[in-house]
Amino acid sequence: PERIISFRVPWVDRNGKVQVNRGYRVQFNSAVGPYKGGLRFHPTVNQGILKFLGFEQIFKNVLTGLPIGGGKGGADFDPKGKTDAEVMRFCQSFMTELQKYIGPSLDVPAGDIGVGGREIGYLYGQYKRLRQFDAGVLTGKPLRFGGSLIRPEATGYGLVYYTQEMLKANGESFDGKTVVVSGAGNVAQYAVQKATELGAKVISVSDSNGYIIDKDGIDFDLLVDVKVKRRARLTEYAAERASATYYEGSVWTYEGSFDIALPCATQNEINGEAAKRLVAQGVRCVSEGANMPSNLDAIAVYKEHNLLYGPAKAANAGGVAVSALEMSQNSLRLSWTREEVDNRLQNIMTNIFNTAKTTAENYDLGNDYLAGANIAAFENIANAMIAQGIV
Ligand code: GLU
Repeated sequence: PERIISFRVPWVDRNGKVQVNRGYRVQFNSAVGPYKGGLRFHPTVNQGILKFLGFEQIFKNVLTGLPIGGGKGGADFDPKGKTDAEVMRFCQSFMTELQKYIGPSLDVPAGDIGVGGREIGYLYGQYKRLRQFDAGVLTGKPLRFGGSLIRPEATGYGLVYYTQEMLKANGESFDGKTVVVSGAGNVAQYAVQKATELGAKVISVSDSNGYIIDKDGIDFDLLVDVKVKRRARLTEYAAERASATYYEGSVWTYEGSFDIALPCATQNEINGEAAKRLVAQGVRCVSEGANMPSNLDAIAVYKEHNLLYGPAKAANAGGVAVSALEMSQNSLRLSWTREEVDNRLQNIMTNIFNTAKTTAENYDLGNDYLAGANIAAFENIANAMIAQGIV
C-alpha cells in the first residue's frame, strides 16, 4: 500500500463503560484516481484482511473504467446487538480520527460489511461537523443528503447483470434456472430480486448461523422486512413462510441440485471440498457478489471442471461503480433518475465482462475470465504508474 493508517477508537457504551476499538484505512493505490473503497465494521477485521480487500479494490475499481484508485478501511467493532446510540458514538469517534486523512479528491470511503446507510449517515454528520459540507467525501449516503438512486441495489444488480452477460456469451440465461445465494445483506437481497426478475428461482439465502431453503423461491419483500426493518435473524423468515426451512451451518453444505451459485456473504466461504460438491450438484456457473468468497482450492476445482466463473473483482464491481457515479452527481450538484443510473450500471457491467473476455482470448486463455480481469486491470494500473514516473 502507498500508506496504512491505524488508529485508536474510544467510545462510551450504554452502561457508561469505555470501549476501545482499532480503526484502519489502507490507502493502496492512487495511480488512476482518489483512493476509493468501503469501510468494514466486523469483529474479524484486522490489517491483513483490509490489505487483501484494498489490493482487490485497486483492480476492481480500474475495471469500472471510472477514475478511482483503491483503498479499504474499517474497524474490529461489532455493530450486532448495539443500540443506535452506541453505533452513532462509535462512528463519531471513528470519523474524528479518519477525517484527517480523507477528502473528496483524496480518499472517499463507503460501506462494506457492517456499514450501511445508518453508519454512513453518522460518519458523514461527524465529518461535516469537523470540516465542512462536502457530499463527495463519502458514498452510499442516504438519498436526502447527496446519496444516489440505485446505490443500495448496485452490487446485487451489477452481479446479476455481469452474470447474465457471461451466461449469454455461453448460450445460456437466468430464465428457468435454480440459484443458490449466500448471505442476506444488501448484496444478497438485490441479487435475489434481480435474478428472480430475470426468471430464475432463488431457493436460498444465509447468515452466519445457518441458511434458508425456500422451495417456492425467496420472497424478497419478506427478506428485506426481516433483515432491514427488523434487523432480525433468518429464523424469523422461516417461521413466517410455509415453503421455507431453516438449517444450521453453511449453505455450501446443502446437498440438493441447482444451476447457479452466487456467493454474497464473505471471503473464503467456498473451499475445495464445497466446490467439488457444487460440481456434483450440477452447478454450471459461480459468480461472486462477496469479495473473494472462493479460496484458491475452490477456484482450481472450477477451472478443472470448466465452470463459468465470475471473479469478485469483475462481478461485484457494480457497487463501487455506482459509488463513483454518486461522486459525479455530487460534483455536478445533480441527482440522476433511477433509469439513468441503472442504464449506466448495466453498460459498465457489460463492458467489464467484455474486457475480461477479450483479454482472456487475446492471451489464449479461453474462457478464463479471472485471468482476463486480472491481466486487464494489472496492465492499466501498471501503465498508469509507469507513466507517472518513479519517485
Ligand atoms: N465495499 C464495496 C466493495 O467492496 C463498495 C466500495 C465503494 O462503494 O467504495 O467494492
